[in-house]
Amino acid sequence: MSNQVREIIETKRPLSRHWVGDGFPVRTLFSYDAGAANTSPFLLFDYAGPHLFEPTHGQRGVGQHPHRGFETVTIVYDGEVAHKDSTGQGGVIGPGDVQWMTAAGGIIHEEFHSPAFAKTGGPFRMVQLWVNLPAKAKMSQPGYQGITKADIPEVALPEGAGTARVIAGEFRGSKGPARTATPINLWDVRLTAGADVTFDLPEGHTAMIAVLAGHVTIGSQGFGEAEIARLARTGGGVRVKADGDALLLVLTGEPIAEPVVGYGPFVMNTQAEIRQAVDDFNSGRFGQIAPA
Ligand code: MN
Repeated sequence: MSNQVREIIETKRPLSRHWVGDGFPVRTLFSYDAGAANTSPFLLFDYAGPHLFEPTHGQRGVGQHPHRGFETVTIVYDGEVAHKDSTGQGGVIGPGDVQWMTAAGGIIHEEFHSPAFAKTGGPFRMVQLWVNLPAKAKMSQPGYQGITKADIPEVALPEGAGTARVIAGEFRGSKGPARTATPINLWDVRLTAGADVTFDLPEGHTAMIAVLAGHVTIGSQGFGEAEIARLARTGGGVRVKADGDALLLVLTGEPIAEPVVGYGPFVMNTQAEIRQAVDDFNSGRFGQIAPA
């Protein structure tokens, strides 16, 4: 292990919450609007909740909408999300499950609280990441990986420091189930109070640590709920100390050195491709969700 320590390049703190539909009270921890090259291949990090929902008769959420040119990764911690899309895929994503949806050439989907969760209400917590695709994969066939809790290996950290679930990439010899278009690591990390852990990070990768709950010290700087540290792309590992129990998401990825042009639910490389996406969607070329 390197005895070097990665520098923190940037600290991000969201200013406010907004609602996505009526189901997802979101804090955006970062967005490509603020400089796509810095966070590449990651485009957006929306942290929904924690939020306590009352029981409802209808299902809260967001109705049919398109995506093109990237992937959406939905990680559910508390509550349940029901998904349906124009490729015929669908299902319920529950606590510990991950949905890795490749919009690629075009998909239409809807995201709602599951009927069971809507009925009971309760605590809700979810992350949705947008992950870019390289130009050569932006117009490929859409796809869907429904990854269940049981599919995701959990690595125990030494000295009872906590656990790391490997969603994508590799952590200390355990490989995650997600298939990714470019090299990515995604680790769902829980630290116990007093933990002092060094995470080795690949050289050259964009690397970020998001704190979802609790308070940690990264290097010599403190981070609390919904705060994110963006680290240097080189310089060895990063030392994280937990001041209490903490929930983190560690993201690393090889940057995609291509232009990013986005408009709403479309992220492409050029303005012409965005105009094409709008035109294709308006002409019904994204398909449709089959009626139930
Ligand atoms: Mn969506």
